[in-house]
Amino acid sequence: MPVIIAGNQQQKEKYLGRMTEEPLMCAYGVTEPGAGSDVASIATRAEKKGDEYVLNGQKMWITNGGVANWYFVLARTSSDPKTSASKAFTGFIVDGDSPGLTKGRKELNMGQRCSNTCGFSMSDVVVPKENVLIGEGAGFKIAMGAFDRTRPPVAAGAVGLSQRALDEATKYALERKTFGTQIVNHQAVSFMLAEMAMETELGRLAWMRAAWEVDQGRRNTYYASIAKGFAGDAANRAASNSVQIFGGNGFNTEYPVEKLMRDAKIYQIYEGTAQIQRLIIAREHLARCKMGLIPVMRAYDLRGGNMMGVEVGRGWQPAGHAGGPSGGGSGCENYYARRQRSLSLPTHMGTRI
Ligand SMILES: Cc1cc2nc3c(=O)[nH]c(=O)nc-3n(C[C@H](O)[C@H](O)[C@H](O)COP(=O)(O)OP(=O)(O)OC[C@H]3O[C@@H](n4cnc5c(N)ncnc54)[C@H](O)[C@@H]3O)c2cc1C
Repeated sequence: MPVIIAGNQQQKEKYLGRMTEEPLMCAYGVTEPGAGSDVASIATRAEKKGDEYVLNGQKMWITNGGVANWYFVLARTSSDPKTSASKAFTGFIVDGDSPGLTKGRKELNMGQRCSNTCGFSMSDVVVPKENVLIGEGAGFKIAMGAFDRTRPPVAAGAVGLSQRALDEATKYALERKTFGTQIVNHQAVSFMLAEMAMETELGRLAWMRAAWEVDQGRRNTYYASIAKGFAGDAANRAASNSVQIFGGNGFNTEYPVEKLMRDAKIYQIYEGTAQIQRLIIAREHLARCKMGLIPVMRAYDLRGGNMMGVEVGRGWQPAGHAGGPSGGGSGCENYYARRQRSLSLPTHMGTRI
């Protein structure tokens, strides 16, 4: 993905072109033994020597790491620890057969065991400057920007797992009988199916929205994290409920749902953990507030100290009209003025009621 979004024509032709001719794999090499969520803490270094860079470091938990024909590698190029993350790192395309690059053994994971997860190390790996994406210092933005495109399909994978869990559980609940009836006739069981159905459909809508934003040419960070965060959690609930509906059989490898439960867990970890998605959603949400993109604000009754909890109005009022046509007595103006200050929002915030 980094080459698709940030590669120049020559890089695309050389590295993506060959993938259309042979079934080759590539890999995204960012995570290291000492840094996963905290990407700015990665320790791999790239030193410029003439027209080349020399890379040293170690990558870990890399999907396709053991079989990749080439890698996207994020490395630190600034030796100044004070340089901001947005300038300190550079993204490289590194050939899989580069001298000094050693691929590790395939990891034995809890689930998704057909996927090749490996680490690799780099000892004085020489990379030509033609393999730098965009330019020195642009790597962090490229690495993070790639997630906007990869999180929707990862969320789609999680929704696929939820759907399979629902299908298997429904089939089983229609066959298995207890107390003289199919277990689907016990409301406690059918409600689990209902929960799974709701969350599967909502997860599907969420990843489609995130993907559609890309098609519209808009930045989709907010929607991509919502889709990935929600669908990953929902897949885990669906898999767990499916095992529950299978009873003892669900705990056994003879039945398919045990594997679904193991496979589901990784959706809350890779491509940014469930917690990191929430950090991003909160950050994006507040940024959208500051930009005035949130269409509905809630009104609060400060006089009584109670939250009215009413969703009011749909459009912007001109600045100075805080409280709006019906808000004069609701305390909205004071509430928003205060909230504006606490969030350092521009002054027009709080006028939409
Ligand atoms: C099977 C698999 C495939 C993977 N594929 C790739 C790949 O292809 N390329 C790649 O670069 N990486 C890959 N990864 C790595 C993956 O992206 C990381 O494991 C993930 O980002 C978490 O990093 P970490 O393991 O270092 O956990 P940590 O960052 O150490 O986090 C540990 C825990 O702390 C929580 N946490 C951390 N910081 C915060 C915070 N600020 N607020 C709240 N909670 C926090 C996390 O959510 C987590 O629960 C893969 C991992 C696995 C297991």
